[in-house]
Amino acid sequence: MFDTLSDRLTGVFDRLRGRGALNEQDVREAMREVRVALLEADVALPVARSFIDKVTEKAVGQQVLKSVTPGQQVVKIVNDELVAMLGGDEVAPLDLDARPPVVVMMVGLQGSGKTTSTAKIARLLKEKQGKKPLMASLDVNRPAAQEQLKVLGEQTGVATLPIIVGQQPVDIARRAIEAAKLQAVDVLLLDTAGRLHVDEALMAEMKAVASVTTPTEVLLVVDSLTGQDAVNVAQSFSDEVPLTGVVLTRMDGDARGGAALSMRAVTGKPIKFAGTGEKLDAIEAFHPGRVASRILG
Ligand code: GDP
Repeated sequence: MFDTLSDRLTGVFDRLRGRGALNEQDVREAMREVRVALLEADVALPVARSFIDKVTEKAVGQQVLKSVTPGQQVVKIVNDELVAMLGGDEVAPLDLDARPPVVVMMVGLQGSGKTTSTAKIARLLKEKQGKKPLMASLDVNRPAAQEQLKVLGEQTGVATLPIIVGQQPVDIARRAIEAAKLQAVDVLLLDTAGRLHVDEALMAEMKAVASVTTPTEVLLVVDSLTGQDAVNVAQSFSDEVPLTGVVLTRMDGDARGGAALSMRAVTGKPIKFAGTGEKLDAIEAFHPGRVASRILG
């Protein structure tokens, strides 16, 4: 992940650092190269543009150019902006500050890793935070989706809502809330249906589920390997449902990184988790600073 981007940026920065003095032209030229590197890594165009504008504005200031180590300073500005682009210094934790059962709704396209991420987060809540989670699958489109969540629940020791064949998503959601209340569940995780493409029926279903469950968190699950598509998906979802955060899956793969870098700017919401493998413990809180350091080498 980020390998090519990281190599390209390291090249630009080594050259910058290698020169004693810098003038505005040098900085602008370097930023042009950074811009190309970002676009080649699939960063969304407006995001790359705004990033370069911000860095350039800060970097061509007299304070930087007249300093003893201008190259170093420019690299620091890039680093800081990169962290900002990824969501700032802080890790964004799950917001569980509501009357239990706190509802966490998982949304995303089919194949994005939604069901797996639901189980991973439920496991984290149980193992690391001592919470009592309950998972319910509202995916009545994909055959075996409900069964898949049940199996993951068995593997992680997290309860799942019993399956009633033929029941529709909004009714399942209502039943899940009732069950969660009766069982004194802390966090109810709803794995909603995905489709191959964003469409009206999917969005309508999601809104209907949200209106009967009033989720505290609505997490969009996106596959980081899908680059620009992931960005488009994020844009469509955030236009339609009130997202509170993003889960980026397949961060263990060799994605070029554009999805990770664009997500915050496109959705305005923090990336809360990164999926790092198929195993159920392969999930991490997303650390913008660490990711920025990985990119800048
Ligand atoms: P859904 O259709 O969105 O519910 O997707 P699934 O949760 O069924 O995941 C689809 C496939 O992606 C499964 O084989 C998962 O094991 C795999 N997967 C999910 N998250 C990750 C991840 O972070 N890394 C890797 N390598 N595989 C993942």
